[in-house]
Amino acid sequence: ALCVRICDEVVGASELSMVNRGIRTKVATDFDRPLNCEFCGECENICPVGALTDRLFKFRARAWEVNNIATVCSFCSTGCALKLSIKNGQIVRALGADEGAANQGSLCIKGRFGYGYVNSPERITQPLVRKNGALVETGWEEALRTVAEGLNGIKAAHGPDAIAGLCSARLTNEEAYIFQKFMRLVIGTNQLDNSGGYSHRGFSQGLRDSFRERITIPSIADLKNCDVMLIIRSNVSETHPVVGYQVTAAAKQHDAQLIVADPRRIKLARLASSYLAHRPGTEIYLLNGLAHIILQEGLENKEFIAAHTDGIQELSHTLKTYTPAFVEQRTGVAAQDLIKAARIFATAGRAAIIISTGMGCYGDDAALVHSAANLALITGHVDRAGSGVLVLGEKSNSHGIIEMGALPDGLPGLRSAADAAAREVFEKAWGAPLPARPGLAAEQILEGAGQGAIKALYCVGENPLHAYPDSHRNRDALTRLQLLVVQDLFMSPTAQMAHVVLPAVSFAEKEGTYINCEGRIQRVRKALEPRGEAQSDAEIICAVARAMGKDLGDGKAERIQAEISSLIPRYRCLNEAQIPLQGIKLEPVSAEPAAEALPARARLIPVEGTAPPAPTAEFPFVLMTGSSLFHCGFLSTHSPAIRIIAPEAHLDISPQDARMLGINSGEFISVTSTRGSMTVKARITAQQPPGMVFVPYHFAQPAVHALTDGWQPYALVKIAKQQ
Ligand code: SF4
Ligand code: SF4
Repeated sequence: ALCVRICDEVVGASELSMVNRGIRTKVATDFDRPLNCEFCGECENICPVGALTDRLFKFRARAWEVNNIATVCSFCSTGCALKLSIKNGQIVRALGADEGAANQGSLCIKGRFGYGYVNSPERITQPLVRKNGALVETGWEEALRTVAEGLNGIKAAHGPDAIAGLCSARLTNEEAYIFQKFMRLVIGTNQLDNSGGYSHRGFSQGLRDSFRERITIPSIADLKNCDVMLIIRSNVSETHPVVGYQVTAAAKQHDAQLIVADPRRIKLARLASSYLAHRPGTEIYLLNGLAHIILQEGLENKEFIAAHTDGIQELSHTLKTYTPAFVEQRTGVAAQDLIKAARIFATAGRAAIIISTGMGCYGDDAALVHSAANLALITGHVDRAGSGVLVLGEKSNSHGIIEMGALPDGLPGLRSAADAAAREVFEKAWGAPLPARPGLAAEQILEGAGQGAIKALYCVGENPLHAYPDSHRNRDALTRLQLLVVQDLFMSPTAQMAHVVLPAVSFAEKEGTYINCEGRIQRVRKALEPRGEAQSDAEIICAVARAMGKDLGDGKAERIQAEISSLIPRYRCLNEAQIPLQGIKLEPVSAEPAAEALPARARLIPVEGTAPPAPTAEFPFVLMTGSSLFHCGFLSTHSPAIRIIAPEAHLDISPQDARMLGINSGEFISVTSTRGSMTVKARITAQQPPGMVFVPYHFAQPAVHALTDGWQPYALVKIAKQQ
């Protein structure tokens, strides 16, 4: 049966099978127990006879009563194309669009059943202004006047750099463009960043620095052409499930070999030819170790290195110390396993490397991506379908937001804010000089607020209190602000601290575009009218600008697209009407284009691993955080269907540690670091190695970032059973 096969060969859950014999044969779980699976709905989606249906849609509408609007999933950066079925102004169903280049009709639980947050009664539908200590509902006029007077006053008293902005990586390209234009032109500062900037920026810049014109990003559909995939720091089956389907299908249907490097025994480890269970935070040692073995055994692609790369001597010199014995000592991976993995990777016809970014990911991302790029370049695994490095951003527009210059040092078009020629393009068009000095990155903005240098913060869809490491520091920083403006769909912990809250619309209520992890521009279409008085982020930003005496237009997507495409040749295709359902893949761009006469040569950039902090007698456990299968950021926690499946956070702990501490699944335990403590339910899982625990960060409570400390790769904690 198609449902049994897709569940096994694509989703990799193997939840269904054919039971009984003859005319009693039916599709069921073993022993007819209730489903305990990924709830992706792929089995129901592929069922040709409608024998399987989803409960959310059942009895809500007939197929001919709904209007299907093609758009893009708002959760992760896979960029699955979907169709929202609309009836009576409500979304009643989400279907994977067969035309979608990334998903070809597939969806995960988030895309298929997570749309409920759009219809949530918890949405903010009215502007709020703080009066006598409490946020009270008001009209747009008063809210905008409060914001404009506050920002103008702070700018006049303390200068433009006393104002900073943080935006979400779920804004559309058009909204991100207008946000950076507002900060640079209206405020006059480069103090802006986004949650992707916390993790994704290093990858984006690092890839361009390493590959230059040779940059190759495998498309998701190409993964089935891979002979080998190295999956490192990426629990892709949970964070980007539809990419996980492609990897699983490549392994199960096309015999691709997987090298899975992860401290946790993640789902894909079951299919791996080589599973490398390294210590958290030692990825660079591991990648350098693989490169060392490849060079040592003469498995490198000498022709490719000579013809297309610079820096092999410096790289070889740096890699000398990364012997299998040294890497084993640093990473905990046995030398013979490293050698086996290096040989598999080097001798593959086509090999890709997959890495994820996002909250909970850590470390020096540029260095990590340089070491991954070195491995791809010395083996010549670039330039072909199914080869290269695929970086999976956490949110739907993690990639686009960087392309649009919502960064302290980058302008739209992936150009530096310090580059006078790049600035001149915008200065001419906008009729004013732009700041040249790079601004503060997200973590420095919060530090600046804590120290009193940043007086006002404009958060557009961003929730730094909850999402960024060290929530105690973040709360203290936000408390010191003279003006905190939050524009969002829900009353996030950051919004609850704001002086002004502005209601924004969801992806289903606006027009625009996203760029997915492959660099594909796809169209977001309006399917519903906005809730209450909510407006699109671009419309709100333009209204704030107007209230401050500056005209940025009306915030309509098509007009912003016309401006972007007229100023930056790279985005000439950014015209809604011309973007087909499968999107348009952007050409890669180098950080530093080669002179025309020279061939494009990639750069081998040597990087060194740095030892992560070691557990101590007082804090013997490593606490890691990140995304989980059923949630993406915070939006999904407002989706009723997802909340049924995954209503709360849990702490994953190994059976050995649970036994040692006398903990049973479902029991409350207290977790304490030097920064704070929290109480959370335990979940015992063999996926977790001894000495390491994992808590997803999606829920406001327990707030895992109350325990984390800045950009440490993880927190060190102690755990005790609650009495
Ligand atoms: S919902 Fe997904 S995981 Fe569950 S049985 Fe169907 S295909 Fe398998
Ligand atoms: S969450 Fe990601 S993988 Fe899942 S449907 Fe949405 S875009 Fe696709």
